[in-house]
Amino acid sequence: MAKVTFIGVGNMGGPMAINLIKAGHEVTAVDLVEENLEKLKAEGAKVAHSAAEAMAETEVVISMLPAGQHVKAVYGKDVFPNANSGTLLIDCSTIDVDSAREVQTLATEAGFPMVDAPVSGGVGGAAAGTLTFMVGGEDTAYAAAEPFLQIMGKTLVHCGGAGNGQAAKICNNMMLGIQMISVAEAFALGEKLGLSHQKLFDVSSTASGQCWSLTTYCPVPEMVPTSPANNEYKPGFASALMLKDLRLAQAAAESAGAVTPLGEHAERLYEEFSESGGAGVDFSGIIKMLREI
Ligand code: NAD
Repeated sequence: MAKVTFIGVGNMGGPMAINLIKAGHEVTAVDLVEENLEKLKAEGAKVAHSAAEAMAETEVVISMLPAGQHVKAVYGKDVFPNANSGTLLIDCSTIDVDSAREVQTLATEAGFPMVDAPVSGGVGGAAAGTLTFMVGGEDTAYAAAEPFLQIMGKTLVHCGGAGNGQAAKICNNMMLGIQMISVAEAFALGEKLGLSHQKLFDVSSTASGQCWSLTTYCPVPEMVPTSPANNEYKPGFASALMLKDLRLAQAAAESAGAVTPLGEHAERLYEEFSESGGAGVDFSGIIKMLREI
């Protein structure tokens, strides 16, 4: 069993770290929020207020932080200068591709195997240990990370070299954001044309409009029992997080010289929805704004 330092034990990192403890690993939790540390302590973790304090005893570092600047700061200031040589580093945060590549290059140069391993599956998947991990990094680093990721997730995809996990994550979520808007627009148009939700669902769910946003996460109620539309659009996947991912996709597109006109438009629509009170609403709730435009 390994000595793991888990940095960032919030909504996602907390339950992920608990799954590692349940699997028998010795976990030290690091966070800035005392309440989050207390929760982990109650589950059997040791706690520390900075990763630097825990590095001498650590074999594996896993992080689940808000954004690229946090990842760069924590690895640059606390982990790289203090970790034992060969410590395995796994960053599960969703961050921009350029920062992920920058941090991983520094890790490799310093002799630390590292992967970027952002997730899909949300808080429910984190608690159930059923996350999907999209992983970027060298084959040897992936092989070393695999047993830890398997405890926290169900599906692992090695997407290529440094930053490719982040690339897969934002490409997928850009598809999802665009797709949800298309489904919501179609239902809003159908309403104006006198077409019932049920009839449109019956046709499109078995025809060429079929997609995840329609058949798993339908933005109108009563079509799919588990979709947030049945629960006043309580997340689920909050629009603020969708906006974060669409912004990351646009940053990546700009950096790579790619043209993503629908991704750009989806970002603008989710920005407008978030700024007009929708930030904490499930991302399928954008149908409410689209009906009013
Ligand atoms: P969160 O805000 O609940 O957790 C982040 C934690 O990091 C907080 O507890 C915060 O105190 C801690 N933190 C920040 N800076 C720190 C530092 N310097 N040292 C130690 N701890 C620090 O956010 P979350 O919902 O758990 O999301 C974490 C990451 O997971 C994000 O990158 C997010 O995009 C990604 N993600 C979230 C979801 C979701 O449904 N919530 C789904 C997929 C991916």
